[in-house]
Amino acid sequence: MPFPRCLVCGSSVNDAGVDHVHRFPRNEQKSKIWQDAMGIKYIPGVSLKNYSICSRHFTVCSYLNRVTGKLCANAVPTLLPASSVGLQSPSEQTLETPSTPPRSIFRGIKGLSAADTTPRKQHLMNLVKSKEAHIRKLKKLCRKKTSDIKSLTNIGDSTVVRNVFRGMSSVTTDFLISQLRCAKKSPRGRRWITQDKVLALALFKKSPKCYRLLRKMVALPSKNTQLAMLL
Ligand SMILES: [Zn+2]
Repeated sequence: MPFPRCLVCGSSVNDAGVDHVHRFPRNEQKSKIWQDAMGIKYIPGVSLKNYSICSRHFTVCSYLNRVTGKLCANAVPTLLPASSVGLQSPSEQTLETPSTPPRSIFRGIKGLSAADTTPRKQHLMNLVKSKEAHIRKLKKLCRKKTSDIKSLTNIGDSTVVRNVFRGMSSVTTDFLISQLRCAKKSPRGRRWITQDKVLALALFKKSPKCYRLLRKMVALPSKNTQLAMLL
């Protein structure tokens, strides 16, 4: 199990100059006094009993026994090490300089502004931010691949399909592409370009009976579609 870290400076008992790590008092009033002394913004109803503070913030007088780490009943942390001043600045500093705007994921979460973070929190926030950036990159890649796939399915404009039909007349190419495009569509879902309609009209004018027979074999515009073009 990892050693508890100081909420103010992020140190643990493993670090130099830290002899003990003390829990914040369960008593709310006492906890508030500690928080005020350390420049931590007090939020009513939010207990810091699960958070700790290291011995570097207590004067020697605060201890009943320095060896065992027993604090006086009215001990209050008063020392702010230079390294933690920037991290846990007094509240007035927070008011003067706006904290860095949190990323969308951290928006609305209290205690994550630059003034309230500990090194561990900062590290985790950076980790989340980097993962978020990675997800954004992947989403962008997904969008690009999706549009690539869509453009592939649009066979009418596909150069690959055009190359397959290379050497055929433009009428044949247009007809074959229209068949490919409309093969999986329901009759009402088919869309025709002008060339398709012109070819269909030519066939229909030649022989309406033959056109009806052809419509049973291949996808061709209906009579109404042709009439709509003429109007
Ligand atoms: Zn500390």
